[in-house]
Amino acid sequence: MSDDIYPVPETWAKTARIDAATYAKDYARSLSDPTGYWLEQAQRLDWMTAPTLADESDFTEEKFAVRWFADGVLNVSANCLDRHLEARGDQVAIIWEPDAPTASPRHITYRELHAEVCKFANALKAKGVRKGDRVTLYLPMIPEAAVAMLACTRIGAVHSIVFGGFSPDALAGRITDCDSRIVITADEGCRGGKSVALKTNVDAAAKLSSSVETIIVIKATGADVPMTEGRDFWYGDLIAEADADCAPEPMNAEDPLFILYTSGSTGKPKGVLHSTGGYLLWASLTHELVFDYRDGDVYWCAADVGWVTGHTYIVYGPLANGATTLMYEGVPNWPSPSRIWQVVDRHKVNQLYTAPTALRALMKEGDSYVTATDRSSLRLLGTVGEPINPEAWRWYHQVVGEGRCPIVDTWWQTETGGQMITPLPGATALKPGSATFPFFGVEPKLVDAEGKVLEGAAEGNLVITRSWPGQMRTVWGDHDRFFQTYFSTYPGTYFTGDGCRRDADGYYWITGRVDDVINVSGHRMGTAEVESALVLHKTVAEAAVVGFPHDIKGQGIYAYVTLNSGETPSDELRKSLVAWVRQEIGPIATPDAIQFTPGLPKTRSGKIMRRILRKIAEGDISSLGDTSTLADPSVVDDLVANRVGKP
Ligand code: ATP
Ligand code: MG
Repeated sequence: MSDDIYPVPETWAKTARIDAATYAKDYARSLSDPTGYWLEQAQRLDWMTAPTLADESDFTEEKFAVRWFADGVLNVSANCLDRHLEARGDQVAIIWEPDAPTASPRHITYRELHAEVCKFANALKAKGVRKGDRVTLYLPMIPEAAVAMLACTRIGAVHSIVFGGFSPDALAGRITDCDSRIVITADEGCRGGKSVALKTNVDAAAKLSSSVETIIVIKATGADVPMTEGRDFWYGDLIAEADADCAPEPMNAEDPLFILYTSGSTGKPKGVLHSTGGYLLWASLTHELVFDYRDGDVYWCAADVGWVTGHTYIVYGPLANGATTLMYEGVPNWPSPSRIWQVVDRHKVNQLYTAPTALRALMKEGDSYVTATDRSSLRLLGTVGEPINPEAWRWYHQVVGEGRCPIVDTWWQTETGGQMITPLPGATALKPGSATFPFFGVEPKLVDAEGKVLEGAAEGNLVITRSWPGQMRTVWGDHDRFFQTYFSTYPGTYFTGDGCRRDADGYYWITGRVDDVINVSGHRMGTAEVESALVLHKTVAEAAVVGFPHDIKGQGIYAYVTLNSGETPSDELRKSLVAWVRQEIGPIATPDAIQFTPGLPKTRSGKIMRRILRKIAEGDISSLGDTSTLADPSVVDDLVANRVGKP
């Protein structure tokens, strides 16, 4: 895809926590002596009873189990708060940047956060919440979201966060699935200058889901919302009455920590369950090493707490490490495409972690919105969520980071709890578009369709052959689905569902979902490769590529293309794009059809929903399936109306 290599900058190599030699040595040890390695790493957490057992997992059907540190006892909120009080009680834990740039940010210290969490934990207890109970959170990006998460962990309740953009239907489904009796929400949310009627949505969901007995409402915007006597309570009132003293509940390492429903880009959402000990260790270790987090840094993960990225890299990883974590209420491009960089300048952010979809949207508006800002505080940049096109990578590196900041392109999943294949900034020479190498303890392999392991440079299906501490433990309420979904395809391994290429230097390149791999005249091609070539063209902002049945080639290539602001679709441009892809990749990748579109169907977490694009390309528009998790279902009508006829 890209032959450029970006060596580790000299200043980074010199000061690295993990340099190339250490990575090689520690990685080898993490596989050869997993028990020694992981019991040592586990000491970074504060245990009530330290574990003597490490990995007891088994991926075979007969003895199937995922289990780590099973004799250890700890509490997550104590690790994220109490243990920091002595050394850094007055350090800022959370910087909150509100949606409106004219509103004032908030700075919350570890001591303040600790007090608020203890009070809310007591309030939850007073409402009857017990260890093991599920609590649904439907919240905007406000500090109280972190308070609610940590308060649940303090008393051993299992939180299930539902992204604030989901409809009452979707919310009700998730409440019912985990049988949650209590919902924590806000009057309204506020994103990009628009308000979101959260409380109204919860009221509607409560009508659909009979399990809801209690609703706690945070005053975020002060909007007038109806409150039902005996069922609905104001967060502020409960906090005002609550005691600030709440002992952390001792939890077994294997006790459930949270449920998070996957975004549903490949099917019905699954309630992914994470554990207390293994997950927290994975969150903490990856956060420190991948972002090179150092004392005094201001770190910003620009995700929403409704996604796993927000769980692990806004809340649990940073707070376990005593970091200052920035939480942003709004969206990257409001009120202008400079906003994200203005926030960086305002708070002197050192590490920024965001998604390729956000970068492509900003890149499309031109460089001036970036160059108008300072950004000199930035030391490291990260991405997650989808393969990043080399073009977007270079823009991030050169324009945003001015060539100074390593980029960590981190591959992982809701199911993995944290980063799995990722550069370490002081150790890894980067190739734009590659997530590079496995993190400690992660053993990836590539297999062909029959499960045969492919060695050396190869392309196939990505599997992980042994457990790691942050691995999900089950699908809530459906352990068999957990086994069937991930462990039955290639017996004895965890199947990621992703396609992947390993180059001659051992770098891993995620090529997209396995479903999205196209087979043109017997030649396997990842959709990411063709998309990257298209995005490289100066007129193209974003592209999505899918296969469709083709009489001669078996499968043909259908490309959906969104142009940069100011560009106009034309047949001529279509021809030059075809020629461009032929030149970039080769004639085998010649698109058979190109459809210009003002937008692509995306999930609410910003991922392109190729399942729908495939149906449209096939002309099978009567069965587009579930489109309810789309951010904007109306783009589908435009796509159907402007489908390129029989290509
Ligand atoms: P669902 O599982 O419900 O269909 P989802 O897979 O989109 O939703 P996530 O767990 O958030 O939900 O996403 C994980 C997927 O995102 C990975 O399997 C991979 O396809 C993609 N991904 C994440 N990070 C990267 C990356 N750095 N490079 C390439 N792909 C990535
Ligand atoms: Mg997935």
